[in-house]
Amino acid sequence: MVIETATGEEAIILRCPTLKSFGLAAFSSYNGQFFRAARSIRRDPFQKEQFMPSFFRLAPACLMFTILIAITSHARSADKPIAAVDANMCRAMQELDVLHKNAAVSCAQLRIVYFSYLGFDGKVHDDGAVMVMAALADHVQAIFATLLQRKFAIAGAQLMQHYRGDDLAAMRANNTSAFNDRAVTNGSAPSLHAYGAAIDINPIQNPFVEFEDAGKTRYSPAAGSKYANRLVVRPGKAVRKGMAEDVVDVFAENGFLIWGGDWDAPIDYQHFQISRTLAKRLAALPVAQAQVVFNDYVNSYRHCAAATKSVTASESGNIVKTNTVKTKCMAAVDQP
Ligand SMILES: [Zn+2]
Repeated sequence: MVIETATGEEAIILRCPTLKSFGLAAFSSYNGQFFRAARSIRRDPFQKEQFMPSFFRLAPACLMFTILIAITSHARSADKPIAAVDANMCRAMQELDVLHKNAAVSCAQLRIVYFSYLGFDGKVHDDGAVMVMAALADHVQAIFATLLQRKFAIAGAQLMQHYRGDDLAAMRANNTSAFNDRAVTNGSAPSLHAYGAAIDINPIQNPFVEFEDAGKTRYSPAAGSKYANRLVVRPGKAVRKGMAEDVVDVFAENGFLIWGGDWDAPIDYQHFQISRTLAKRLAALPVAQAQVVFNDYVNSYRHCAAATKSVTASESGNIVKTNTVKTKCMAAVDQP
């Protein structure tokens, strides 16, 4: 699909799913000054007399979808690192399948954390954004600031409305994300993502791994199968970037003690979360109070971890150290 930009600015490129036969490509610039929709090249031969009525019938719907995306993409990171979810964005999230009726948290309980990150291209990008529970926002900001300091590569982080809440699409795009009002995979309980209390990071480098009958293994996304081997350094091969094992301590130090890479079946290498008990407790409290509870929780873990680290100083490896600390400290601090 050919997209042209008048300004050379970073553009959001979308394909409207309702216009299957001829497609409508739309793009908008981040500063909101330029916006237009352009009809794209039809893939299949299409009779003009059939095409035009369909176009005029479906174009308004597609245009509306594009406007919703433009609204949700408008804010930038530099001057507002943590932003509330305003009424427009809240409405857009509902329209775009990211937020539903009877959700575990309201828009007032969510925040957008904007951040800069090191891309796999070795350059610093300033367009990172994740939506999380408000009580966690300060610590999520600290997580991504530390990842940048550590030069941990991130492929990209756009809010889930860019993918209409489609987790599989976001994973295929290697998108780092958090809030998405959805059920757990292969289940009906709300995912911790539905609380804004879980973060998925670089899904290709850190796939979701399921084990089916007859010994079959399924990787989501499929490209993640290249990372079945979890070693970062291997003889004669390039050192690998963006793998979650490198940063388990950063997430733990900021309250995200649970890592899906510690699970047995499935294994969810991209997934960091707080406990469900804690998420439910925070969701039931007013934001300011929930913030105090979470800060206390994080401080309690850090205190325990600091005392434990001296014991584990001789051990090598981030995982071994962090998991040793977690083993000692999780039970001590993870009280509802
Ligand atoms: Zn996840």
